[in-house]
Amino acid sequence: MQAENSSTECGEPPSGRSFQALKKFTSAGRGFWHDVSEADWNDWRWQLKHRITTVGQLEKLMPTLTPAELAGARLANHKLALGITPYFFNLIDPADENCPIRRQMIPRIEETTTAAWEMSDPCGEDSHSPVPGLVHRYPDRVLFLVTDRCASYCRYCTRSRLVSNATGYDFHPEFDKQIAYIAAHPEIRDVLLSGGDPLLLSDEKLENLLSRLRAIPHIEFLRLGTRIPVFLPQRITPELCAVLKQFHPLFISIHTNHPRELTTEVRAALSRLADAGIPLGNQSVLLKHVNDDADVMKAHVQKLLMCRVKPYYLYQCDLIAGSAHLRASVARGLEIMEKLRGHTTGYAVPQYVIDAPGGGGKVPVNPEYVLCRNAGRVLIRNFEGKIFEYPEAADGTPAGLPPKEIVESELV
Ligand code: SF4
Repeated sequence: MQAENSSTECGEPPSGRSFQALKKFTSAGRGFWHDVSEADWNDWRWQLKHRITTVGQLEKLMPTLTPAELAGARLANHKLALGITPYFFNLIDPADENCPIRRQMIPRIEETTTAAWEMSDPCGEDSHSPVPGLVHRYPDRVLFLVTDRCASYCRYCTRSRLVSNATGYDFHPEFDKQIAYIAAHPEIRDVLLSGGDPLLLSDEKLENLLSRLRAIPHIEFLRLGTRIPVFLPQRITPELCAVLKQFHPLFISIHTNHPRELTTEVRAALSRLADAGIPLGNQSVLLKHVNDDADVMKAHVQKLLMCRVKPYYLYQCDLIAGSAHLRASVARGLEIMEKLRGHTTGYAVPQYVIDAPGGGGKVPVNPEYVLCRNAGRVLIRNFEGKIFEYPEAADGTPAGLPPKEIVESELV
């Protein structure tokens, strides 16, 4: 088994694949479903209907399940349902217990262990919810929960209290009330549709909802948070793109964690969205044995740019109940950020954030680049560890000596 949080000595990432191999685009293939017709396989409704949702199906398709996975799968439907599209299931390596896709999708018995500091609602959404399905935590924007269903279920889901409805949360968004609240609050200029996954709505329902939101004069900006292009690229049809492009400015945040998720199918789906004029960003969650390695993360963000997606956020994994086995440390996250900034294209570098436990909102966390700051100067460090002085003055006019690089002996 790979040693925790480390690359191998030969410089290969933990997945055992070389950096260039991680960046290669390949198809998820047909796997167990090789005899399904092309039309069915490319039909998103067929994919949803044939999801792997039971322990029996899982055992049949993956006889290599470990005892921890089997026990987890048996209990999953009391916590967060088991659900994986056939397309995405094909990305799992059944021979690798630490396969990064497997760790995200296959339940494990560790999910039933909750540490004292873990929570069912780590971002405090319920306490910031003025009407069912709407979260108003920041002054000028709201989170609009559309559904509690996703195409596949991520084992670290921060909204697992309601997503998949396994815990009896009784989620009933009321679009009329949600829209009425937004219309009555002129300070709201930005609406993020999420869930569950908003792209599971039919084209008609989505068009209706987006039209109603666009009709509110103070709504400047619409966003969708979705993992559908990754779990179900078949859903990104030309018809869906035609619906979405009516509502610009409309941005989409996708959610991917590992370069293997970026297949040729996903790249084509993202191209269709980008061609519809939709700016695309990506949100990743830092996950142990999935992407807590600088090479894996670098390959991932570079691959995202090749898919026309800007890496937007890297999230520290929320303190969701039963997620300790998937959570990497903040120290590890900072180390990875250090190895990205300056070492690859600036557009490829996401902002690392911690969602402050209990509802404090996103807090950016960065390696220390400002070493010292006072009324006369700022000492900064670059990505190579070189130290520079930037002269500071109250009105912004450098008052002292010109800027220069500092050698270590001068720092005493
Ligand atoms: S797609 Fe998003 S909402 Fe759905 S299970 Fe995964 S993290 Fe949760």
